[in-house]
Amino acid sequence: MSVQVLTLLGSTGSIGVSTLDVVARHPERFRIFALAGHTQTARLAEQCAVHRPRYAVVAGESEAAELRRLIAQQNSTTEVLHGAQALCDVAAAPEVTGVMAAIVGAAGLAPTLAAAAAGKTVFLANKETLVMSGRLFMDTARQNHARILPVDSEHNAVYQVLPRDFNGDLDTHGIDSIVLTASGGPFLDTDLRDFDHITPAQAVKHPNWSMGQKISVDSATMMNKGLELIEAHWLFHCPPERLEAVIHPQSVIHSMVRYRDGSVLAQMGVPDMRTPIAYCLGLSERIASGAAKLDFATLGALTFRQPDFQRFPCLKLAYDAMHAGGFAPCVLNAANEAAVAAFLRGQIRFSDIARSVEHALAHIPAGEPDSIDALVAADTQTRRLTEAFISSRLICFNTQDRT
Ligand code: NAD
Ligand code: MG
Repeated sequence: MSVQVLTLLGSTGSIGVSTLDVVARHPERFRIFALAGHTQTARLAEQCAVHRPRYAVVAGESEAAELRRLIAQQNSTTEVLHGAQALCDVAAAPEVTGVMAAIVGAAGLAPTLAAAAAGKTVFLANKETLVMSGRLFMDTARQNHARILPVDSEHNAVYQVLPRDFNGDLDTHGIDSIVLTASGGPFLDTDLRDFDHITPAQAVKHPNWSMGQKISVDSATMMNKGLELIEAHWLFHCPPERLEAVIHPQSVIHSMVRYRDGSVLAQMGVPDMRTPIAYCLGLSERIASGAAKLDFATLGALTFRQPDFQRFPCLKLAYDAMHAGGFAPCVLNAANEAAVAAFLRGQIRFSDIARSVEHALAHIPAGEPDSIDALVAADTQTRRLTEAFISSRLICFNTQDRT
């Protein structure tokens, strides 16, 4: 067994912390090369004390000064770097074998692409990278022999139940469709008339999973499932018409593959991201993750229902963007990030997230995204457009809110 040398992008977030938990259970297997934690210097300093990385990366100079101060108290040799280029450097460094891509949002694009371009094994949690840059990312990975392993629980489940020799051709393997399960989030049964009064605190409280704020809001709008459909489209070469989404409120079946002969293969487990993380880190061995055993005696019923586009308009917008292709998924993602941030700041209502995304999708740049610069330009332009839309509608939103 060779030791894996890891860079963790987003080590201080929900996925990052779960990853370090798995890593700590197998000290003989993993060495940490770099941890990146943006502005969360205190947590990053604690992680450095335990895992002793060669580098720690933060957002800017002031965070770097703060982290150096904290690290100096630990008698540690960790070197502190800062800025976007440093993230790419620690992702592509020659010593590194694997990169956990767990930054949230479009900020993860450049370093995740850098890891793929450097031929690393990429443990992909940052779904926004694939939504923004699907073809470019997959081509970069293929050309540079990078292995992409899906950490997102649904895609990890699909990966586990696909044939071992899956070559990207669904028909050769007798596959009819890929079925992603969705919990439906906290508002699955909320009266639609109450949607305008949903608060950020309610939206980030997911019934089954403990996650970062942005993905929790995405789960509540079901934009998360929309982003995941696009992610599955690229990861598994699956055309949109062969992708299904089904609501499964218990989050026990993490996703499924339908085969031509009528068989449906599913992967199950308790909702704990350490399971897909351990699967990816251990491949091709199964290693302990710390997740609890699925207890069939207390499990109760597993239920399913069709998603409803009236309740979850973001899911419909994501389907539309996936069908449209080109820059549409990048625009969808950027508008969603801007709108979710505005919702979390209390500037817009929950239902205005979908309105803001819909507005942005009426302004998709023409052509194919064939460079990171083109994607970043489309992302920036869409954020500006969405923020302007939100500002222009702010008074109107607030007035409606009081009625
Ligand atoms: P989180 O908010 O808990 O953590 C985000 C991490 O990214 C933190 O370490 C933060 O410091 C860092 N970060 C934030 N902004 C940054 C920036 N501009 N530049 C560099 N670093 C930055 O998020 P999370 O829930 O861990 O999710 C991370 C990614 O994994 C997301 O793309 C999410 O969709 C995906 N994902 C998460 C889960 C989950 O259970 N949490 C499941 C599946 C997929
Ligand atoms: Mg998921």
